[in-house]
Amino acid sequence: MKRAIRSQSHLRRFLGLPESRDSSANVAERFPTFVPLELASRIRPGDPGDPILRQVLATSDELVEQPGFIDDPVGDLDADAGGGVLHKYAGRALIVTHGACAVHCRYCFRREFPYSQNSSRLQYWAPAVEYIRSDASVDEVLLSGGDPLTLTDGALDRLVGRIESIPHVRRLRIHTRLPIAIPQRITPDLVDRLARSRLSVWVVIHANHANEIDENVGSAISALKRAGISLLNQSVLLSGVNDDAKVLADLSTKLINLGVQPYYLHQLDQVRGASHFWVDIERGKQIIGELRDSLPGYAVPKYVIEHAGEKSKTPIA
Ligand SMILES: *Cc1c(COP(=O)(O)O)cnc(C)c1O
Ligand code: SF4
Repeated sequence: MKRAIRSQSHLRRFLGLPESRDSSANVAERFPTFVPLELASRIRPGDPGDPILRQVLATSDELVEQPGFIDDPVGDLDADAGGGVLHKYAGRALIVTHGACAVHCRYCFRREFPYSQNSSRLQYWAPAVEYIRSDASVDEVLLSGGDPLTLTDGALDRLVGRIESIPHVRRLRIHTRLPIAIPQRITPDLVDRLARSRLSVWVVIHANHANEIDENVGSAISALKRAGISLLNQSVLLSGVNDDAKVLADLSTKLINLGVQPYYLHQLDQVRGASHFWVDIERGKQIIGELRDSLPGYAVPKYVIEHAGEKSKTPIA
């Protein structure tokens, strides 16, 4: 992560793209560029329309104000960003692990988590762990983000150990973009630690386009699979990235060939600065219909939207 690309001009230079005349300073300050070299190497040099590039390159589109696109569309997350727990759904509690992110996705609804604010001390999660201990209805703990795998193996081991010490917890779910962003993060030690857990471990990766999955990503996924870890993928439906049945079918096929089940296709959260990624729900339904016609049933993700206050994600199609 230390070697990651941290500015638009560096990213453009790296890819042989001309400097932009966008009011880039404004854009960049709101949500800094952060792209690991491992991910950047999967972007086609010189191609401004590359589907990975579109996810990570800031443009003046982000300055467009669109009614309904607000700063904090999933307000409850911000309320708990101090290492707390989000318990919205039956049986499942989510720990906002408060690590950094492995990549800054331009469509993201979250603010960035600077390293300096990172805490990997166990004490930091004590209130979340105590909350889960005191509620016997919680049998699944989700580690989400920032990205929990930005923690060191040692910190993760201590946190997972605390969760394992709660008898009514049976499953651990890790939501992470690191297997895609920096597949080398899936170290043998990490795989061993998860394989040794008494919990049933699920890892949810986040890929939006088949180009994100190269050989190294495949090896990381295979290492997790061999250790008996179940793998799911979730994507966000993004204009200019994957709003096309063929593109999503290629992604699903690549995933299932690796033993990863496509889980959710999320309708975009309406965050300020991301309106250029919006895809109409009618178009999304049409794409899902085409996926159903061309793929095994288990390869078609559930198309969902998140509405505050509901007991689950809301299925669209
Ligand atoms: C999305 C989410 C979950 C997981 O929901 P599933 O439908 O089980 O994947 C759990 N907790 C919170 C707060 C969530 O936003
Ligand atoms: S990794 Fe996830 S939380 Fe982080 S910027 Fe990307 S979408 Fe947002």
